Amino acid sequence: MTEEAVPQRTIPALPADIDGQPVTWRRWEAACSWITHIDLSCEQCAHPGPPMLTFGSIPHPGKDDHALLSYQASRCPACQETRIYRRTPRRYGPPGIYLTEVGYIPPRTLEA
Ligand SMILES: [Zn+2]
Repeated sequence: MTEEAVPQRTIPALPADIDGQPVTWRRWEAACSWITHIDLSCEQCAHPGPPMLTFGSIPHPGKDDHALLSYQASRCPACQETRIYRRTPRRYGPPGIYLTEVGYIPPRTLEA
């Protein structure tokens, strides 16, 4: 009898630290429709979404507001492709957040 590997698509682990800073991640939640700056469908597997979303925070030094950086990650619930972004508050002009991709976890093999 050969032991069959049961395909399991585990949720990819998010990095415990980025750029040497420990990142505390929240729980994954389904993205809400108010998030308009993210394409809700999956480029890899065409899953219509919404993707799963989580936010990461780093220790705040408490002395410089501009040092407050946080992260967010989006994950396809079907193929588990995950992208990790740094959130940078816009310092000039209208309020907003810049997203810079800092990590990528490729999709898992899709089972038939
Ligand atoms: Zn996908």
